[in-house]
Amino acid sequence: MPSARDIIEVLEQVAPLALQESYDNAGLLTGQPDTPVTGVLVALDPTQEVLDEAISSGCNLIITHHPLVFQPLKTLSGEGWVKRLLVKAVKYDLLLYAAHTNLDMIPAGVSGRMADLLGLTNRTVLVPRKEDLLKLVVYVPDAYIGKVSDALFSAGAGHIGHYDSCSFRTHGTGTFRGDLESNPRVGKRGQLHHEEEYRLETVLPRHLTGRILREMIKVHPYEEVAYDLFPLLNEYSGQGIGIIGNLPEALGEKAFLDLVKKKFGVVTIRHSDWINRPVRKVALCGGSGGEFIPQALTSGADVYLTGEIKYHQYADADGKMLFADIGHFESEQFTASLIYDLISEKFPKFAVHLSKNITNPIKYY
Ligand SMILES: [Zn+2]
Repeated sequence: MPSARDIIEVLEQVAPLALQESYDNAGLLTGQPDTPVTGVLVALDPTQEVLDEAISSGCNLIITHHPLVFQPLKTLSGEGWVKRLLVKAVKYDLLLYAAHTNLDMIPAGVSGRMADLLGLTNRTVLVPRKEDLLKLVVYVPDAYIGKVSDALFSAGAGHIGHYDSCSFRTHGTGTFRGDLESNPRVGKRGQLHHEEEYRLETVLPRHLTGRILREMIKVHPYEEVAYDLFPLLNEYSGQGIGIIGNLPEALGEKAFLDLVKKKFGVVTIRHSDWINRPVRKVALCGGSGGEFIPQALTSGADVYLTGEIKYHQYADADGKMLFADIGHFESEQFTASLIYDLISEKFPKFAVHLSKNITNPIKYY
C-alpha cells in the first residue's frame, strides 16, 4: 500500500509546489504524509459530497485542484463550510491534498489539457514566469566536462524553449591552493596548482536548483566545487500561466465556438463582439483568466478562451480579438482526469477514482 508521500511525489515531480503563486495554499492540508493510502479520490473541488464519496468508497486521500483553505483560520469552531469540511476530514482521518496554481504553471497542466482538447499545435506559454531562471557557471577539469554536463542536463538544466542540453564552454586555466586540511584531487596541499579547466555555463529553473547542484557535485571530481549562480531577468518560457497555439485549421468564429461547446460540453458561451475574421491562433487559460487579458491581447491570437471574464473586461476586446468565457468549472473540468492519469500511470493497480460529483457551485436555469 503506497503512502500519501509516494502518491504526492508523483504529482510534485510534474508540478512542484514551489511553482505555486504566493497567494495559493496548495499541498497537503490535513493528515500526515507517511499515512498508508487506502484509495485516492480525485475531484476539482473539495465539497461535502466529495468527502462523503471518499468515506463511502474507502478512499482516505482526496486530491483536488482547488484547495479547501485559502485564508488563514484562527479556530476550527464556529460557522462556515470550510471549517465544517476541515473538521469532518480530520474526524474521518482523510488526507486533503490540492495541486492548484502549481498545476496551472506547467505546460502539460490545466491549460495544457484544454489545448489538447482543441488540438492546438506550436504551443507557447501565454504568461511566462518571471525571475524563475538562474545562470549556473561551473569550473570543470577537462576530463570531466562530459560527465558534469550530462549530469546537469539530466537533472533539468540547459532547457531553452524547444531545445535541451544548452550550454557554453570556454577553456582556460584555473588556479588553487589547498590548506593543510584539504585533500585535493589534483595538485598537492599547500602548493599553488594550475589546472586546465572549462568554464561551463548553462541555465536552470529556480525550483530545480537543489537537485541540479546535488547531481553536479556528485560527479564533479573536486573536493570544493567552484560554481556561481546568477539570477536572470529573462522570462522563463518553459513555465507559466495559459497557452497560445494554433488550431489544426482556421475556423469561422461561430464554428470555433461550436467546437468549444462540443469539446467542453457547454450549452452557452459568453463572448465579446464578433471580429469578422476566421480564428486560427488561440490563447487560452483555465479558470479566472480575465486578469491575463493584456497578455492575450498582445499575443497575436484571434481568440482568448477562458473561464471567467468580468463585465467591463469584455470591452477590452475592442474588435481586436474574440473573448470566449465558458465558465470556471467548465474550463477546468478535465483537471481531475489529468491528476487521475498522472497517478494511475505510476500506480496502475492502485485504487484511484474520479469523483462522480459535479462540484460546480454555479448552477444554470
Ligand atoms: Zn480554478
